[in-house]
Amino acid sequence: MALLNLKEILAVAAQHRFAVGAFNAIDSNFIDAVFDAAIEQQSPVIINVAEVHLPYIDIYATSDYIKKKAELSGIPVCLNLDHGLTFKTIETAVACGFSSIMFDGSHLPYEDNIIQTRKVVELCRQHNISVEAELGAVGGDEGGALESTADTALYTDVEQAVEFVKETRIDALAVAIGNTHGKYKGIPKLDITRLQQINQAINIPLVLHGGSGLSVADFHQTIEHGICKINFFTGMSQVALSSIEADITNANLAQKYNYYLIMMENMQKAIKQTVAEQMAIFHSVEKAKLYG
Ligand SMILES: [Zn+2]
Repeated sequence: MALLNLKEILAVAAQHRFAVGAFNAIDSNFIDAVFDAAIEQQSPVIINVAEVHLPYIDIYATSDYIKKKAELSGIPVCLNLDHGLTFKTIETAVACGFSSIMFDGSHLPYEDNIIQTRKVVELCRQHNISVEAELGAVGGDEGGALESTADTALYTDVEQAVEFVKETRIDALAVAIGNTHGKYKGIPKLDITRLQQINQAINIPLVLHGGSGLSVADFHQTIEHGICKINFFTGMSQVALSSIEADITNANLAQKYNYYLIMMENMQKAIKQTVAEQMAIFHSVEKAKLYG
């Protein structure tokens, strides 16, 4: 299947009240694991490539690899630049055939966030690429501190969200409602009332970053109130590390000549299982058939 842009993949999710998981690609093990899970679960999927991970990733080769896997998979796939921070990287992602760009201007003053986001939208529209932007600030950051908490002063403001969407004409909005990147310090408490208000006030799909560490009830409540895309990465890297740790201390495995291959295979299986579990929680299992 050809790549879908974010607007296309989320429209079906919004209509049928489920969320599409956006899982980060950092190497072929992660990519293969996500595709295996998506195909097995017949779930639409968003593959995230984060700008902060680009020092470890060849964006040109990786995007070709993902596009080929998408074509062979037969499932709906969207390729998203996660937390695009610079215009230069966004232009590279456009050239690489990404079907969605998340521009993160949340660290900018509000007016600058509007101006920069609008510039990204202008470029992307010419290529049928969707744009996700962020208003308010989700705690922590991709590739940042392991543990973080959300700052209530930085939660997305409802009135501002209405104006921001109108001014920028983005396709999806990432909200800050108590969610945070990395591992949660303590038990996360989401401001569902605020999410409900944002969802009632604007008519585009909403995005939840910092999916790792939230409870099943949290996910279901957010999906009920307009969240159509959920970013998930920390949980994948945690199970990958646990799998490596278990294998590296396994004396029996150390005797085998293909020790490394077995370790990789086990790691992929662990990631795949976690991704499949999230897809079930997000209610995206068996939803591939809803895309024509
Ligand atoms: Zn994020």
